[in-house]
Amino acid sequence: MGAQLPGRRGDGASTLQVESIRARTIVMEAWSDRLAALTGERRRQPESKAVLNALQFGSYPPRHSADLRPDLLAKLKHTLARQIDLIVETAALDESGLRFYGSLKRDLAKAVPGDPIGELLGRVSDKARSVYGQDWIVPESEVVYLGRHPRASHTIDGDPYTATAETDLEPRPQVKVRILGTHFGVEAYCSLPMIITHEFVSHVPSYPRRNSQPGLFNEGFMDWASLTFFRHWCHELSPTLNSLVLSHGDELHRRLLHEVEDWRGIRGTTVMVRCRRRPGCRSAGSCASARDASC
Ligand SMILES: [Zn+2]
Repeated sequence: MGAQLPGRRGDGASTLQVESIRARTIVMEAWSDRLAALTGERRRQPESKAVLNALQFGSYPPRHSADLRPDLLAKLKHTLARQIDLIVETAALDESGLRFYGSLKRDLAKAVPGDPIGELLGRVSDKARSVYGQDWIVPESEVVYLGRHPRASHTIDGDPYTATAETDLEPRPQVKVRILGTHFGVEAYCSLPMIITHEFVSHVPSYPRRNSQPGLFNEGFMDWASLTFFRHWCHELSPTLNSLVLSHGDELHRRLLHEVEDWRGIRGTTVMVRCRRRPGCRSAGSCASARDASC
C-alpha cells in the first residue's frame, strides 16, 4: 500500500518502543489459535495472568545497553518461554493445562520476524479503496509510541485498550497509530482493526476538502459508519483473530461512545459535558434505519 513501515522513524528510544510493540504483535499472531483461551476460560488462572502480563509489558534491552538494534523478538520469545517453563515446572497443571502450555511454547518457537500492524494497515487501505474508488488517497502511516494511556485510565485492568490513532491531513494524509508501549496486550492489539478502520474510512477521505476538525457529534456519526464497515470487513482484516477482534472492537466502540467531551466552567462551577459522541452515532443509525424502511 506504500505505507511507511511502522517504527522506522523517530529517535532511538521511541524506535525501541515501537520495535518492542512489533515483537508483541508477532507473538500474538503466532498464538492466534490460543489467545481466546488465554484471555477467556484461563484468564482467571494465575498461570495465564503471568503469561499475559509478560506479553503485555514486552521486552527491552538493558537500560544502558549500547546495542542500537537489539533483537527484541528473540528476547521476548526467550522471556515467555522461560515463563512457560516455570509454569510447567511449578504449577499443579492437569493434563489439559500441560497440553495447553506445551502448545503455547511450540507456537512461540514458530514466531518469525514480520510486521503484522503494517500488513493490517495495508488490508484496511485496500478495503477503503474499494469504497472510495478513484477518490481514495493512500495515506502514509506509522506506529508511534505513546507515553500515557489514551483515556488517562488509572488501571490497565479497567481499560486495557491502550491504542488510539489520529490522522494528520497536512501536507498529506498521514495515519498515526499510537500505542502505550509499556502496556500493549491482547485487548489493545485486537482493537486495532476497528481503530484503523475508523481513521481510514472517516478521516483520511476528508483530505481533499480540507474539512475542519470534527466535533464529537461528527465523531459519533463517523463512528457508526466506520463500525459498520469494520463489522463487515472484520473476517478479512484479521482472519486469524476474527472473533476476538470483533468483540474487542465492539467493546472499545462502546467505551468511546461514553467519552467525555470536555470540561466547561459555568458561573464559577465546572460541569462535565458528556457524550455528544453517542447522539451522533445514534443519529447515523436512525438515518440508516429510515433509509432501509423506505426502500
Ligand atoms: Zn475520529
